[in-house]
Amino acid sequence: MSLPKHLLDGYERYLNKGFVRNRETHERLALYGQKPEVMVISCCDSRVTPEGIFNMGPGELFVVRNVANLVPPYEDTEGQHGTSAAIEFGVGSLKVKHIVVMGHGQCGGVKAFREHANAPMETGQFIGRWIKLLEPAAIAMACMPLDQADDPQLAMEYAGIRQSLKNLMTFPFVEKAVQDETLRLHGAWFDIGSGELRVMNEDSQRFEEVEHPPIKVIAQSAGH
Ligand SMILES: [Zn+2]
Repeated sequence: MSLPKHLLDGYERYLNKGFVRNRETHERLALYGQKPEVMVISCCDSRVTPEGIFNMGPGELFVVRNVANLVPPYEDTEGQHGTSAAIEFGVGSLKVKHIVVMGHGQCGGVKAFREHANAPMETGQFIGRWIKLLEPAAIAMACMPLDQADDPQLAMEYAGIRQSLKNLMTFPFVEKAVQDETLRLHGAWFDIGSGELRVMNEDSQRFEEVEHPPIKVIAQSAGH
């Protein structure tokens, strides 16, 4: 059994371009280990790639991706807490200086929660239970609407990011690192179609567009 051909073709292109270009970085990373300063918690969505969006190479981002970029609250229970394990490793061992919770537009996980808010378990054995993590976000949103209500999907995406940032602070080692000012938490939101990135203002909790020069229009190449 081999991998699909387009993956093997892609790997060959990677070896000859990306890997060759970063060869010394790879050797250094293999020898000395990783020391990324930034952890990103992003969605599994194939259209939202943290390394691509921030133009980062190997060793620069510690990334965990899950359905709807959610952080569960700290739990001292038995169970396989995958995202929490990544947070523990990122903060405890790698000592990252920043954690970015990055949501995005048209998030299917958020959509599933909105459509099944009264019976989230119906959306699947695992997804339903997982996206129930958005329930406190929906309550917070109803109690204190921060965003325009004319786009309830977007408002829920923002609320989910705020809730995940709140949940991050329930991890004792995260809270301590934030208090010690060795760690900063950030919320961000990416628009797939336009490439627009919005960042949460820590004071107002509102999302603001990142200023950047106009996007250059260049002919699209067929290669990767
Ligand atoms: Zn998503």
